[in-house]
Amino acid sequence: MTQSVDVLLTNAIVLTMDAKLNQYDPGAVAVRGDSIVAVGPEDEIKKEYTAAEIIDCKGKVLMPGLINAHTHVPMTLLRGIADDLRLDVWLQGYMWPVEREFLSPDFVRLGTQIACAELIKSGVTTFNDMYFFEEDVAKAAAGAGLRAVCGQTVLKFPTSDAPSYEDAMARARDFIQRWKGHELIVPAISPHAPYTTTAEMLRETAELAQEFDVPLHTHLAETALEVENMRRENNMPVIPYVKKQGLFGAKVIAAHCVHVDMGEIRTLKNHGVGISHNPSSNLKLASGFAPVTKMLEAGLNVGIGTDGPASNNDLDMFEEMRLASFVAKASSNDPTAVPAQTALTMATRLGAQALHIGHLTGSLTPGRRADLILVDTSPIHNSPRFRRDHNNAYAQIVYASKSTDVSDVMVNGKWVMRGHALLTLNESDLIYQASQAAKRIDAFLIEREGSVLSKLIALGGSMEEESYEVQVKVRLQDPAKVHAGLEQPEIAIERLRHYDQHDTYFFFADPAQGRIRYREDEFLDEKGQVTATRPRLTLVGQKREDEFAHDVLLSRSRFLAPATQSLRFYREYFKPAREVELNKDRLRWLIRYKETEFFINLDNVETPALGHFLEIKSRTWSRGDAERKAELVNELLSLLGAAGQPTVTEDYIELAME
Ligand SMILES: [Zn+2]
Repeated sequence: MTQSVDVLLTNAIVLTMDAKLNQYDPGAVAVRGDSIVAVGPEDEIKKEYTAAEIIDCKGKVLMPGLINAHTHVPMTLLRGIADDLRLDVWLQGYMWPVEREFLSPDFVRLGTQIACAELIKSGVTTFNDMYFFEEDVAKAAAGAGLRAVCGQTVLKFPTSDAPSYEDAMARARDFIQRWKGHELIVPAISPHAPYTTTAEMLRETAELAQEFDVPLHTHLAETALEVENMRRENNMPVIPYVKKQGLFGAKVIAAHCVHVDMGEIRTLKNHGVGISHNPSSNLKLASGFAPVTKMLEAGLNVGIGTDGPASNNDLDMFEEMRLASFVAKASSNDPTAVPAQTALTMATRLGAQALHIGHLTGSLTPGRRADLILVDTSPIHNSPRFRRDHNNAYAQIVYASKSTDVSDVMVNGKWVMRGHALLTLNESDLIYQASQAAKRIDAFLIEREGSVLSKLIALGGSMEEESYEVQVKVRLQDPAKVHAGLEQPEIAIERLRHYDQHDTYFFFADPAQGRIRYREDEFLDEKGQVTATRPRLTLVGQKREDEFAHDVLLSRSRFLAPATQSLRFYREYFKPAREVELNKDRLRWLIRYKETEFFINLDNVETPALGHFLEIKSRTWSRGDAERKAELVNELLSLLGAAGQPTVTEDYIELAME
């Protein structure tokens, strides 16, 4: 008695990618509803099953759909926006500002649809995502008929979809509650990374994931810098740190794990953590080489991911499989590392297991969902074909097949592509909509790149601080006179600080843009030891607002920001036309003279060697106040033995450049 099924796929080279790596040639697969009913040699399957729809696969490879184990699909709309940059400049200088400006549910849905079209066309049936407005990723993916693990992002700072961490948690909980049990979508929570979350957030996201028994998707140990910072701040590397926060109580999917040692690999294994290895992203961002062979030997489920299309720049899993193999070989000096069979297993069964959905997909096994693809291995770039060794079939797929050789894709028992034609998405319409979005983003960036001020503001955290000061600066022959002058009874010393000041000035081709000053104050104790460092960034548009007797100036500077990034970051971000460095030793007194506070700076400018200077400054708020203070400044110049000394511009940089 033959059994009836919905679809019978015959005359195929079947690569099951199951635990035994069974192959059937010619083989057949029977599908009923959303599931695979039988897989085996064609003659046996045909004897047992009949179907309304019998599809002759014409000798193509029939295999499980590929699993993209880590990505941020809406970023298709940011593909190619800024490349060849360091991670921090790329992320904080470009991605985050553009996301702050443009992210919306519509943006996310369009980006996801574009990604789904690309994923289907390249043979992917499941992807694991992490982004904002993740419910819209889920809607678009389900609409396209793709399977996805969708992780709602949680960060320690405000995002486009959540003004606070608490809002992000509420959004994640709500999303998970409503989507849990969906036939295609597995909702998840995504604390972005240990360095963008707090210990408390890691604990709470893990608890939420456990409460609903959904995966927790995060980035771990991606760069050496991340590990270095973690060691400095918490005295331990990344994996023990997140373990300490209870993260591994959840079903974790960890992207990257580039910088992990053997002990950490064992910890990951003991807690059943799934790994996504992302070779293109690691290569492009120069993050390093993940110890893939060691992770596989330890028995970890290591899948392969493309990472977001802004850091890859495509979602091509065929390319990713090949790179996973090649990078493992090159980085270990071992051509036997990650053979084709292993790479393909990672991109299918191991990937599904890494996403904690190995019971649903990842191999052509009876009972699993019918997520399968047809790959044509007959084109000239993949001919001829050898059959001597089972491994020949894997080598053909991993080393010579192109994603464009995928002709048909079925997800959950439903065709989403037949004969290279997408059935659930309109490709030409998506290309048009993407080009319109790109125009808007281009216009935004063109305007921003034209203004140093806009670029500074785009970094976030900068504050407009209008600071008016009455000030004078004179060149000194004898600094000892200042010390003696400060001992006079009219002057009350409130505070004295000593520090080394390192300034780097960025100049731009258009002087009207002002200049950026990156300043590092190193506070010194009595012994001259550095006790603290304070970096600051200022856009010095310093204009003279007014001038009083004896060259006392009223000046204004605007836009200060705490310099949270390195000098290197700002250099790569602002791309100055010229830089000038200035180092000085500064004694800074806060004094009170005639009921008015002044700062007295006694500077020794060491590089360039400009010598000693006295600077007297006071904040001011009104014209009348400024005039009165300008008089007091002149009195102080006399008291400090500096009257009649030549004044210099308010800013050493003019001197330094002479
Ligand atoms: Zn990522």
